[in-house]
Amino acid sequence: MVNDDWQQQLQFDQQHIWHPYTSMIDPLPCYHVESAAGCELKLSSGEQLVDGMSSWWAAIHGYNHSRLNQAAHQQIDRMSHVMFGGLTHQPAVNMVQQLTQLTPAGMDRVFIADSGSVSVEVAIKMSLQYWVSRQRPEKNQLLTIRGGYHGDTFAAMSVCDPVNGMHHLFKHALRNQLFAEKPKLTFWDDWQPEQESELRHWFERYHQQLAAVVVEPIVQGAGGMRMYHPNYLKQLRLLCDQYEVLLIVDEIATGFGRTGKLFACEHADITADIMCVGKALTSGYMTLAATITNQHVAETVSHANSGGALMHGPTFMGNPLACAVAAESLTMINEGHWRQQVATIEQQLQHDLLSLAEHPAVKDARVLGAIGVLEMEQSIDVAAAQKKFIAHGVWIRPFGRLLYIMPPYTISVAQLKQLTLAMADYVSSLKPS
Ligand SMILES: *Cc1c(COP(=O)(O)O)cnc(C)c1O
Repeated sequence: MVNDDWQQQLQFDQQHIWHPYTSMIDPLPCYHVESAAGCELKLSSGEQLVDGMSSWWAAIHGYNHSRLNQAAHQQIDRMSHVMFGGLTHQPAVNMVQQLTQLTPAGMDRVFIADSGSVSVEVAIKMSLQYWVSRQRPEKNQLLTIRGGYHGDTFAAMSVCDPVNGMHHLFKHALRNQLFAEKPKLTFWDDWQPEQESELRHWFERYHQQLAAVVVEPIVQGAGGMRMYHPNYLKQLRLLCDQYEVLLIVDEIATGFGRTGKLFACEHADITADIMCVGKALTSGYMTLAATITNQHVAETVSHANSGGALMHGPTFMGNPLACAVAAESLTMINEGHWRQQVATIEQQLQHDLLSLAEHPAVKDARVLGAIGVLEMEQSIDVAAAQKKFIAHGVWIRPFGRLLYIMPPYTISVAQLKQLTLAMADYVSSLKPS
């Protein structure tokens, strides 16, 4: 029997269902959503909320989109899923054709994964198998930069920030990786050539044991919403080439236009050896990700020395329903309206958010593409802040000291204004620290 009393559902939820990073004893309050359309979520309690989160970077074209709905309906009437071992289908082929039209030249060998974290695991496996194939199995460690986030599975966790991340809990079970300092220079600073030597040190000292460098390009997302200087990425590319280390870029949050470029690597004009995409791949309709590499890496990984095959194959690999929606979402990206949409959002965010940095409770304000961040001096009381935002008719979920938005690209000027006014109002309600 269906229980359609949403208040009872909330109660059941609180007792039985885990939410992301929450306690089963003292969970944060949860809101019951009835539906979502365009750039708005409708709560069962009646409120209509402008969405500032894109459901964690994913819903770039907004909710309940007619073209994406149609792609899902058409596919589900044919088949929802078949195994990918020994079978293929139009949705997977279409999706990868659309995807490789977007990726840099040569990045055209695609492993379809079921979530961002899994795509990072696969990227790491590729890099390890690559060096086994080349008969240098001692190259099996990873270098990353502090402040990163790459997912919640174990290999991905091993390259998340060792302080903010979950390392302290799982230290005993995680592989020890190498961590370079957080980039000192922001995206907007003038470059200082001495920054290069800090990075070079790690390569000089450890290159013989390094399989790959793993980084989020330009924007460190869940690890602190920091935006760093493109020259770090340029230097990493040069050092990887010079010292024979693979470069893995995690574009799961930054991919598909979010930073104002199609992929964040374009800010530094570099191409990785392996890249991960996820989140916005289906525009938030369902879970899907991909690990993309070039012919050289793909063929080396497939060498007889490492068994002749890439050793990964999830049950729901290449899920046709998810691929059909992703193919349509990527077709929309290929049509190119995102450029104007993201540029317009960026201008409006710059205009409405950057001046808030003058408030004493705000440590920093920064905007890149369709990402707007207020870093506060003090950590934010999430439950209290969300209550305020809901009264303002907006959905914004802060974490730590960060109050940030990354709205759907289709947001209107008035809707975006509603988000930034709510943020400004929250800031002005704070006492100077
Ligand atoms: C969200 C995210 C992941 C993990 O993706 P999931 O789909 O949650 O497993 C990995 N890397 C980055 C940069 C992310 O933002």
